[in-house]
Amino acid sequence: ADARPLLEVKGVTVRFGGITALDGITFSISRGAITGLIGPNGAGKTTLFNCLSRLYQFSDGEILFEGQPLRAHPAHAIAALGIGRTFQNLALFRTMSVRDNVMLGGHCRSGTGFLGNALRLPSVRREERMLGEQAARMIDLLDLGEVAHRPVSDLSFGTAKRVEFARALMSRPKLLLLDEPAGGLNHEEVDGLRLLLRRIQSELSLTILLVEHHMNLVMRVSDQVVALDFGRKIADGTPAQVQAHPDVVRAYLGVE
Ligand code: ATP
Repeated sequence: ADARPLLEVKGVTVRFGGITALDGITFSISRGAITGLIGPNGAGKTTLFNCLSRLYQFSDGEILFEGQPLRAHPAHAIAALGIGRTFQNLALFRTMSVRDNVMLGGHCRSGTGFLGNALRLPSVRREERMLGEQAARMIDLLDLGEVAHRPVSDLSFGTAKRVEFARALMSRPKLLLLDEPAGGLNHEEVDGLRLLLRRIQSELSLTILLVEHHMNLVMRVSDQVVALDFGRKIADGTPAQVQAHPDVVRAYLGVE
């Protein structure tokens, strides 16, 4: 089973009224790979992410995760299935500590787990302890140890982004969707992010799909790149292949 791609996107089409936001998109992602999803504004990147997390319906096509059609699973079941995501705008509780924010990410892991066990105290305690251990591991992995007890409001934007990462990793995703992780980061922080992505990919044997406008990061960190323009896939392949593809050059330079 491991030989087959973790994710297969097959002919996915999304229409909003007269607009075709995605037009027959097909690509696949193998286990352990980092895939960059690029394209000019309005190309359909966020729409594709929203299909993967089941926030949007697609009218045609199919998405298979570990060979299973995503269509059968509602948005709230996606995390339990093994797909985690971060958002372009941070969604953290600013007055709560870093550690508590990270812990919250563990509570959406299994559909029934936490609430289902509410009346069985010993197993709640066991679950809390396991969550605590997992949170400590993620805090360590993302170099948040020194700020673990500080409120998120004390942190720089770049550090807060790492908290969002740690929280997304608490659901132990197999596939992590990152929406513009480099957005708003300075040069030094982008470099740190690149190393961090590689570290979490190898330590957690994670598969990552990232939407990113920061070309230097995408081209240096990705194993494969998929390029969209006006809802269509215009290229996919290695970073070097995609970067040199005439349609990609044209899309970014805006020449006809
Ligand atoms: P950006 O890089 O600016 O975030 P993007 O590649 O993520 O752009 P999308 O946000 O997916 O692009 O948008 C693709 C197209 O679909 C655009 O024409 C957009 O206006 C349209 N669109 C996206 N979401 C909706 C919606 N909920 N209702 C109507 N149209 C939408």
